[in-house]
Amino acid sequence: MFVALFDIDSTLLRTQGAGRAAFVETFRAEFDIERLHGEISFAGRSDRAIVREVLAQHGIEDRPGTWQRFVRGYLRRLERTLVIRRGGLLPGVLPLLRAIRERSDIAMGILTGNIAAGARLKLEHYGIDSFFDFGGYGDHHTDRGGIAVEALGAADAFLRTTHRRSAKPALTTVIGDTPQDVQCARSIAARAIAVATGNSSLSELTAAAPDRALPDLTDRDSILSFITAD
Ligand SMILES: [Mg+2]
Repeated sequence: MFVALFDIDSTLLRTQGAGRAAFVETFRAEFDIERLHGEISFAGRSDRAIVREVLAQHGIEDRPGTWQRFVRGYLRRLERTLVIRRGGLLPGVLPLLRAIRERSDIAMGILTGNIAAGARLKLEHYGIDSFFDFGGYGDHHTDRGGIAVEALGAADAFLRTTHRRSAKPALTTVIGDTPQDVQCARSIAARAIAVATGNSSLSELTAAAPDRALPDLTDRDSILSFITAD
């Protein structure tokens, strides 16, 4: 069995800043943080890591209750910002997901820095949640390598239950839009497809040495044959 692990933001879909807006509004309303110091980088990072950094910058103690408060506020606002900001699926995504679902030898999951409930909101909003059976998320991990381990473990648990098979890193492909996606694929010995639909250019992605660097996900047949190569 092959495994395909998809990043969400700027790989499958673009929220036109809905996630960032929900973050900013939550920090302002719940923690009196009016402006985020400098340019907080969101791309390729986990929600847990971003929140930890912002709280530290403002001298707020990062306790379990603080995190839970952030999560509640963020999810409530994300539901609204997803409706206001008019994002959408990226080119080629829906045909690719449909083609993968037709194959009985590929299992599809998520590998994202989003918290699981936030990931679900985004995937549901754009109508693609039903394509994914498992995932690794940014609720607990501050580094993407930890999320990759979680995603591979979830793939393994899924395959054992449904197919009595294990998930093999060498037959697993991570698809993402940042150098961090490529690095986390390598950290679990998986293959990597990098797609230039986010902030990273094709040449920046190529520098991270993925197995394939693509402008977008429209070349369905070559992506499928790469994912299913032995
Ligand atoms: Mg991304």
